[in-house]
Amino acid sequence: MLDNFYSKFSHDIGIDLGTANTLVYVKGKGIVINEPSVVAVNQRTKQILAIGLEAQRMVGRTPPHIVATRPLVDGVISDFEITEAMLRYFIDKVHGGGFVLLRRPRVVIGIPSGVTEVEKRAVVDAAINAGARKAFLIEEPMAAAIGSRLNVQDPQGNMIVDIGGGTTEIAVISLGGIVISKSLRIAGDEMNENIMQYARENFNLLLGERTAEDVKIKVGSAYRLDKQLTAQMRGRDLVTGLPKEVTITDEQARQALMPSLRIIVNSIKDVIEEIPPELISDILDKGIVLAGGGSLLRGLDKLVGEVTAMPIHVSEDPLTCVVRGAGVVVEDLEILKDVLVSTEFEPAPK
Ligand code: ADP
Ligand code: MG
Repeated sequence: MLDNFYSKFSHDIGIDLGTANTLVYVKGKGIVINEPSVVAVNQRTKQILAIGLEAQRMVGRTPPHIVATRPLVDGVISDFEITEAMLRYFIDKVHGGGFVLLRRPRVVIGIPSGVTEVEKRAVVDAAINAGARKAFLIEEPMAAAIGSRLNVQDPQGNMIVDIGGGTTEIAVISLGGIVISKSLRIAGDEMNENIMQYARENFNLLLGERTAEDVKIKVGSAYRLDKQLTAQMRGRDLVTGLPKEVTITDEQARQALMPSLRIIVNSIKDVIEEIPPELISDILDKGIVLAGGGSLLRGLDKLVGEVTAMPIHVSEDPLTCVVRGAGVVVEDLEILKDVLVSTEFEPAPK
């Protein structure tokens, strides 16, 4: 078919449109883009000034009328035009280069499970408007499971927990479909908030979000550590208004993170209680796979394992497993079509 002929001249791509990071996989090439999902906008002119890494460098350092925003809030497109601009930027970046013969690419995009039809439609429209020939959607837990090399098409239960920036997705997968899923709006961002709140309440210290994230990555943990860790936190003293530096230990950070961790762990337990008996026995054998940047938190596997009494595995390279999963689908779109959500939409009439 003509479509097949043309596909030789286009680079089909897989996109993980995360709340924190956007990654792009190009068929035959691998991951070519890995940048923060940030767009800097001039509020006065509505002009987009920078996207990705460049925009992130502006965060917190911009004059008031320049706002660095994340177009995805809680995993869902909150600003359609900005998301579209971001997608166009990334698609052009991998697909540009001025080859006249290069046809517009087919795109497989990861979306959180349980988004509404309207939200799905918005993602597809954004991708089409941004230059995709066709847009297919894959639920992120499915992509994360494929990227973690689980055999999602077998008649066997697989459980995956993807802890990203804005959302935690918990899903049980069997026979190429999602059997149970739960999406929480508690994940890495909320953990940063926890650290900020702890610093405010215990040290009268106002922290920036980036500082809170650094602290989380440096000394954050979900389970008692063998060796104490400490980090310096720099912020503003809420009493004097002057800069202040305070030392935080892993134990304090753990206490700070507990509110989020408790919700995540309890939600995993809730999902386990809903799993049909045949599948639970598979999962007891194979364990729960943790993915997403949040799964890098020290000792999270231990905490989840202790609470659920299940074996736990952290996915290899958890920050890239969704895009790698989308990439596996892109490489074999015809064969893996049945793991996609809604096969295909036509672009909305303008
Ligand atoms: P999304 O899919 O929503 O874009 P990611 O899977 O890219 O999210 O994960 C981003 C989140 O992971 C951020 O909240 C970040 O702070 C967190 N993260 C990254 N590395 C670590 C780490 N070593 N420890 C704890 N959290 C981490
Ligand atoms: Mg993600």
